[in-house]
Amino acid sequence: MTAPFDDKLHEECGVFGVFGHDDAPALTALGLHALQHRGQEAAGIVAFDGKQFTSERHVGLVGDVFGNEGHVAKLKGRNAIGHVRYSTTGGSVSRNVQPMFADLSGGGLAIAHNGNLTNARLLRRELVAEGAIFHSTSDTETIIHLAARSHYEVIVEKLIDALKHVEGAYSLVALTSKKLIGVRDPYGVRPLVLGKLDDAMILSSETCALDIIGAEFVRDVQPGEMLVVTKEGIESLHPFPVKPRRFCIFEYVYFARPDSMVEGKNIYDVRKRIGAELAREAPAVADMVVPVPDSGVPAALGFAAASGLPFELGIIRNHYIGRTFIEPSDRIRHLGVKLKHNANRAKLKGKRIVLVDDSIVRGTTSKKIVEMVRDAGATEVHFRIASPPTTHSCFYGVDTPNKKDLLAHNLDLAGMRDFIKADSLAFVSMDGLYRAMGEAKRIGSAPQFCDACFSGDYPIEPTDASEFRRQLSLLTEVV
Ligand code: SF4
Repeated sequence: MTAPFDDKLHEECGVFGVFGHDDAPALTALGLHALQHRGQEAAGIVAFDGKQFTSERHVGLVGDVFGNEGHVAKLKGRNAIGHVRYSTTGGSVSRNVQPMFADLSGGGLAIAHNGNLTNARLLRRELVAEGAIFHSTSDTETIIHLAARSHYEVIVEKLIDALKHVEGAYSLVALTSKKLIGVRDPYGVRPLVLGKLDDAMILSSETCALDIIGAEFVRDVQPGEMLVVTKEGIESLHPFPVKPRRFCIFEYVYFARPDSMVEGKNIYDVRKRIGAELAREAPAVADMVVPVPDSGVPAALGFAAASGLPFELGIIRNHYIGRTFIEPSDRIRHLGVKLKHNANRAKLKGKRIVLVDDSIVRGTTSKKIVEMVRDAGATEVHFRIASPPTTHSCFYGVDTPNKKDLLAHNLDLAGMRDFIKADSLAFVSMDGLYRAMGEAKRIGSAPQFCDACFSGDYPIEPTDASEFRRQLSLLTEVV
């Protein structure tokens, strides 16, 4: 579900885990709070107290679910994992809230998953045909069923066996009665980091969640690596065939929090450098640079510094829109984007504006923001976008509209400019984006990132989607 005033791609999930701390459930709740930007529909924690697993999984924001003690007090133990969910795969019903838990022959297993399995539908059909009974519509449950059927005895080996059958993007944290497990898919599409708090070990989607609990960053979990944390220490396993590294470049553009370090790079710095590249590639004669807050702010700062134009907060964001207006009634729908953004008229009147945002998805919000800035008295609006045109859907754990609904899939640059009614429109080039990252686009023949939503170059076959397309074309031919 995408909010009507929020024409953005959305990360589907964030994960967090603590091993060996008296306050493990509360620390996990705090970690999830810092990862709230990765999923706002539901939050859950599973803890283990040496005898039993307890779980609290509910629809709502982390603060609503776990704030003021709330459900945290019901969770016991020194080990815990947690999950925040946005969700497209599986919808938003409460039975899909993670972490998922099952009693396997070797003991209990809880899993929290960030990513999306690209062959989950196919696997699910096979499992159901063999008698498996699914309790959710989430692709994560597929991993649990595969682990449950594995002939290996030890749970870590069952999990490895299960993951060898799945395709797609996954950064998982899992909890057994004795172990905390963190694992990234062989391409390393989604992030996962290891941290340390006193003697406790922490796993998190992003470093900003380590900061909130005072944990120190140890290192990124490597693509294809499985970390197994026990009382005896940490074991690093590499059980999967090695694949080329293809980290999601959109984490740098928009998903990750600006205060996070992702694979050695500060997100805020990268976004400023993208803005500077944009200023060099697509300068504009204007009076000031205005960000579309909050996500356009770092790139706008970079653009302003590189162009010598003043930076001004010409649009103010209301941070307290809450869920009340996420699905508005028709009576207030026409208020649209103004519920979230409002023009700072005193700054904009009579001025030529460079408007900077991180991306354009459908273009609906961009169009309304340009209109709002003009209504506030801006004489010219030059829209600059700190990513290349989003032309393709994501199949790796990001909520994207169908390709046909993406503005850049349907229109060329002039068509997009006319649609959003800007005086000029420019996107940073793919080369500019990679320059800002400080990375070569390719090392030899191997791309360094997944950039499929800009290029259509999918590193992992989207099996379910391809199968769906094949079925459609078969139907089309028959009809
Ligand atoms: Fe990230 Fe885009 Fe690749 Fe999805 S398709 S993983 S959003 S770069």
